[in-house]
Amino acid sequence: MALVTISGFPCSGKTTRAKQLKAYFESRISSPEYDGPDLTVVIVDDDISHVPRSSYDTSALEKPARASLFSNVSRSLGSDTITIVDSANYIKGYRYQMYCAAREARVRVATIHVVATPDKCKEWHEKRGECSYKPATFDNLIMRYEEPSSMVRWDSPLFTIPWDEQPPFEDIWNAILKGDKKPPPAAV
Ligand code: ADP
Ligand code: MG
Repeated sequence: MALVTISGFPCSGKTTRAKQLKAYFESRISSPEYDGPDLTVVIVDDDISHVPRSSYDTSALEKPARASLFSNVSRSLGSDTITIVDSANYIKGYRYQMYCAAREARVRVATIHVVATPDKCKEWHEKRGECSYKPATFDNLIMRYEEPSSMVRWDSPLFTIPWDEQPPFEDIWNAILKGDKKPPPAAV
């Protein structure tokens, strides 16, 4: 039914937001006012795709990691599922690839840009301790980050969520439930 792509720096709060969104969507689906189809909310992340943090150390390791995540995302897309992709998703071309898969599966899309300053991310990274990225990998992921843009169709609609603000839950729900337009035709 929908693909929600989370994107952000390492340790910027992506997983935190993904879980909040899942809980919100589930509360809407189970509310008495909801009269749509029965939906399951699924989070697809690096862990379930067997992608360790060290995969981001080199592009040779990162390529198969991205492929694994992508195939899990593709498999999850369907008319009865809201798929939330909780990963860095920092490459424009990769987000485009997922967008094309969503079109093909005839599901709606939304992109969530989770925003925290590099210093905040570093602070949280140091505090988190376990499952850490190597310092060079962490800096690299920030340097190479390709920010989502609402000007391109594969990142639209785009919701930007600063670390110290509440996500616009209802707007995101409406975007995936009703969409601004009709569901996109299948890609040819
Ligand atoms: P990511 O999935 O991007 O690596 P996480 O959601 O796992 O990030 O968050 C990383 C750490 O930062 C966690 O320990 C979490 O407690 C902290 N954190 C995340 N978002 C916030 C926030 N908005 N405010 C304060 N701390 C946060
Ligand atoms: Mg995470």
